[in-house]
Formats: sequence, C-alpha cells, structure tokens
Amino acid sequence: MIDAIDFDLLRDRIVRFCQTVPDGVRVVAVTKQVSVEAMRVAYASGLRDFGENRIQDAEIKQAQLADLPDITWHLIGHLQANKAKKALEQFQWIHSVDSLKLAQRLNQLAADRPQKPQICLQVKLLPDPNKFGWTEPELWADLPQLGDCEHLQIRGLMTIAPLGLSATEIFDLFVRTRELAVKIQQQNVRRLYLDQLSMGMSEDYLLAVQAGATIIRPGRILFGDLKVKPDE
Ligand SMILES: *Cc1c(COP(=O)(O)O)cnc(C)c1O
Repeated sequence: MIDAIDFDLLRDRIVRFCQTVPDGVRVVAVTKQVSVEAMRVAYASGLRDFGENRIQDAEIKQAQLADLPDITWHLIGHLQANKAKKALEQFQWIHSVDSLKLAQRLNQLAADRPQKPQICLQVKLLPDPNKFGWTEPELWADLPQLGDCEHLQIRGLMTIAPLGLSATEIFDLFVRTRELAVKIQQQNVRRLYLDQLSMGMSEDYLLAVQAGATIIRPGRILFGDLKVKPDE
C-alpha cells in the first residue's frame, strides 16, 4: 500500500522532474500502471496531461477522476480498429495511429464529433518487430490519403526507440524522426501540419528533448514503483 509519506516524495519528484524540462515541451505523464491516488498527486503537482495505453483501464480512471475536468487524455498504446469509437470518446489525443486504415476509420467516426481529435502518426525508422508504426517509405506512400482525413487534426509524428540502442543511436533516431517531419512539412501536403514530435520516455527523454521533441512521455521516472499492477 502507498501511504501519505510516499505521496510527499512523489510530489517532490514530479515537481523536480518538471523543472528539468524546457519550456514548450509538453509532459504527458504515462500512468498506465499507476493508481488514481498517485494520479491525483500528479495533478496536484501541476500535470494536466495523462497517457494511457489501454482503453478499458483509462475508462475506469476517467470515471474516478471525473471531478478533475481539465485533464487532457492521451492514448499512447496500439489501437484496434474496433475500439476506435471508444478511443475518440475518451481521448483528446491519439499518439499511436499506426496505419492508414486506422486513420481512415478514426476520420469516419470523428465526423460526428464536436472537436477534431489530435493525432500523431507513429513511425519506426529502425526495424522493430515489437512495435507498430509506419516505415518511412510506407508513410510517404500514405501521406496523400492521410491528408484527406479532414476530420482529424494530424499534428505530428510519434516514435518509440527500440530496446538495446546506444545513446548516440537513440539520439540519431530522434533526429531522423524530426527531419522526416520537416521534410513532410516541406511537401505541403493538404491538412498535414506536423508541428509536434512525441518522443522520449523515462530512459531517453533528455535525448529526445535535445533532438527537438515537443511532447515527452515519461512514466517510471515520475511514478517509480507506485504501480497498481506488476510489470507485464
Ligand atoms: C510505457 C510507455 C511510456 C512510458 O515509459 P517509461 O519507461 O515508464 O517512461 C511512454 N510511451 C509509451 C508508448 C509507452 O508505452
């Protein structure tokens, strides 16, 4: 169980972490294994963006935190097309759009929604069998049709570094991701204005910030061992 003393430590840790993040970089606190009590501490520490990777877990937490109306919810995990409707109801941002088919499905469903969902396109510029996402050639091929998704606000690229890379390799990967976003911008594809880069987790967020991340997604570095479930 977590007691009040741990909460004080948690608050200090979060506040100190946020002080190390440059202005203009948005911190999405990844709370996928964190209790709502700890999320309340994060909220009280000033965080307003929470990232979850499962629709169902998020639904429970959102109900329990319904008294905190100014939270922005970010979906960061792989989304199955059959859960797309729920995802739009529950999340303002979806960082993990990883195929044209999913984007088109979301676009169709978003037509009826009051606000456009904010979307990042998940890319993998290095092969990674454990991750979803477009390779660079695949993304170029799909861009025109992504630009036709008029009910989505496609904001940027998202990436996750594969395990086992050196710091230099991770940095290079993040730089390449930024360069890809810039190249896409220069093509002036209709409706694609990719000004956001969602990259960097606990282990590599500093590299990501140096490479130009605008959104980082730290989890363990904020919440440490305050898990409600063991690691999967
Ligand atoms: C879990 C997760 C994070 C946070 O990872 P930490 O190592 O706990 O910082 C960030 N992004 C995605 C997509 C994740 O699944």
